[in-house]
Amino acid sequence: MKKGMAIAPLLSGANIFNLIDRLDPARALLSEKQAKRREVLANITQDLHTSLELEEVLYLFIDRIRALLPVDGLSYSNDSAAIRLSTAIQGEHRVSYQLSSDQGELGTLVFTRHRPFQTKEMSLLEAALPCLRYPLRNALQYRAALTAATTDPLTQCGNRQALDAALNREIDLAIRDRIPLSVIMFDFDHFKQLNDNHGHQAGDQMLKLVCQTIRASMRKTDLMFRYGGEEFIILLHKTNAEGAVHAAEKIRRKIEALRSPYQDRTIRTTISLGVTAFKAKEEAGAIIERADRALYLAKQLGRNQVFRED
Ligand code: GH3
Ligand code: MG
Ligand code: MG
Repeated sequence: MKKGMAIAPLLSGANIFNLIDRLDPARALLSEKQAKRREVLANITQDLHTSLELEEVLYLFIDRIRALLPVDGLSYSNDSAAIRLSTAIQGEHRVSYQLSSDQGELGTLVFTRHRPFQTKEMSLLEAALPCLRYPLRNALQYRAALTAATTDPLTQCGNRQALDAALNREIDLAIRDRIPLSVIMFDFDHFKQLNDNHGHQAGDQMLKLVCQTIRASMRKTDLMFRYGGEEFIILLHKTNAEGAVHAAEKIRRKIEALRSPYQDRTIRTTISLGVTAFKAKEEAGAIIERADRALYLAKQLGRNQVFRED
C-alpha cells in the first residue's frame, strides 16, 4: 500500500507513450493486452473532452482506467470548491494524487482497491492522469460558472432560480421514494430597524452571519435559499413536519443567542419561522404559500417563534 503519492507537475501527454515504451521496450512484440492498453490511453483524453459535467468526467475516467487495471473505487475532493465525490464501493488500499494545472490546484484523486497496487500499476495510473488534467479543469470552471449563476453573492445561499429547480427535484424524490419533505420559511424580525439603527452594512453582515450559522447546523441534505430581501427558505429532505419544527426551533434559539460584532457595538437579531410539510399531489407553489402563511402567523403571534401550518 502506498499513500499520499503526489506527482507534480503532471506528466505531459507525450510522456504517456514514453512510459508505455519503457514498460515494454520490445515494441514490435507488443502483446495484445499491451496494445489494448496503449489504445485505451490514447483514447482517454478524447473521451473525457466529451463532457463538462464533473461527475461524468470522473465517471468516464474511472471507467476507462478499469480497462487498464482493476480499480475498486475512486474519490475526488477539492476543498477550495467544496467538492467531495466518491464511488459507492471503495477498497482499503489507496493511492492518492494531488492534481494541478498551470492555473492552480485541481484537487485530490484517490484510487482504492481491495488488494494493494503494484508499482507497475501505479505507473499506468500516472500515465493516464495527464489525460484528466484539462477535462477536469474545464469541468471545474463550468461548475463554478453554474454555481455563480444560482448563488446569492452576499449570503452564498441558492437564489430564487435555484430554489425553483431544487423544490421541483425534492418533490419528485418525495413522490417517487415516498419520503417526507418539509419547508421552513423564515424572515428577520424588525430588520428595517436594524438597518436604520446600525446602517445597511451592519445589516448585510448580520444576514451573512445568520446564514453561515444556520448552514453550519443543517444536515448535508438540507438546502437553503434566499427567497427575497431578508426572507429565506430551507428544504428539509426526508423530514416530516415534527422533525422540521424541531429543526426550526433549534435554528431560532441559535439565532437568538447569536452576537454580531460590528464596529464598537454588538448587534443581535431574531427570526420568525413558518414550517409546513409537503402533501402528496400538491404543486410546488402550494407548499410555499402554506409556509408563507405559517411565517405570517409566527409574526402575528409576536415574532421570534416557530409556527406550523398543516
Ligand atoms: P418584520 O419583523 O415584520 O419582518 O419587519 P421588518 O422590518 O424585517 O420588515 P420589512 O419588510 O419592513 O423590512 C425588511 C427590511 O430588510 C427592509 C430592507 O431594506 C431590508 N433588507 C432587505 N434585503 C437586505 C439586504 O440585502 N441587506 C440589508 N442590509 N437589508 C436588507
Ligand atoms: Mg423582516
Ligand atoms: Mg421580509
